[in-house]
Amino acid sequence: MQRVRAFAHDVFTYPLPEGHRFPLAKYRLVRQGAETIEGVEVRDADAATWEQLARTHSADWVERVRDGHLDRREELALGLPWSEQLVERSRRATGATLQAARAALEDGIAMNLGGGTHHAFAHVGRGFCVFNDVVTAIRDLRADGRVRRVLVVDVDVHQGDGTHALLAGDADAFTLSLNGFRNYPFRRVPGDLEVDFPDGTADGRYLAELERVLPEALRRARPELAFVLAGADPYEGDRLGRLALTKRGLLERDGFVRDALSTAGVPACVTLAGGYAEDVRDTVEINLGTVRTFSASRS
Ligand SMILES: [Zn+2]
Repeated sequence: MQRVRAFAHDVFTYPLPEGHRFPLAKYRLVRQGAETIEGVEVRDADAATWEQLARTHSADWVERVRDGHLDRREELALGLPWSEQLVERSRRATGATLQAARAALEDGIAMNLGGGTHHAFAHVGRGFCVFNDVVTAIRDLRADGRVRRVLVVDVDVHQGDGTHALLAGDADAFTLSLNGFRNYPFRRVPGDLEVDFPDGTADGRYLAELERVLPEALRRARPELAFVLAGADPYEGDRLGRLALTKRGLLERDGFVRDALSTAGVPACVTLAGGYAEDVRDTVEINLGTVRTFSASRS
């Protein structure tokens, strides 16, 4: 059985007001579940360094996050209250993707048991995303000459506006994004290839579109490494998602992505991105389905 390394950041927790919709509790539960899956090795992530973060973000943003100098509007747009623990958590969540990307190049598949912070821009973080983990990982690997051409497969329900903005004009990075149309972010940043779904889109249409666009993205990107943002939020029971995929449909989504990348010989760095089900156990079950699917051999 192949080994799959999974990097966790759940132990670096931070204070949230009671009833806040960010599902902080899910990360520990996903970690505990992942530890029981055969072949998966869970490790605590190192923090991304300030230097690594500065390859993606402006010095101003990095310094103001570090020192707690966000203004009120920025904190509202971020959706999370600043704390020193939030800064540490955000560095660990980014570090987990950096480590998973390197592990994926060695092992073929590796994961961050979180991450997928695609709403973070160069100069500002938004939508629960302080730093952009995937873009930071791309730049970190390129700084070492490890990879050049990359593909981002974003099947979180929300558009990866920050990632699109950061990779615009990067001829060696290709972004594929499957989005709920009537959903955050309401001001879009175009990616390289996108599908927008109406509210209530169910498994059949979603999977048919995925099967159409992923091979096209692979052909056009010719990637040496793919980043997958396997959000749990296209789920029918998600409070923010507005689509209607079943748990089985999400498993099929993950299996199709895994097989397409594997057939193309492209290593995959998998992140879990968003998930806001009414009952956190549903999000955890979907996330663990993703971990199980990507850690299993090809079907
Ligand atoms: Zn999302």
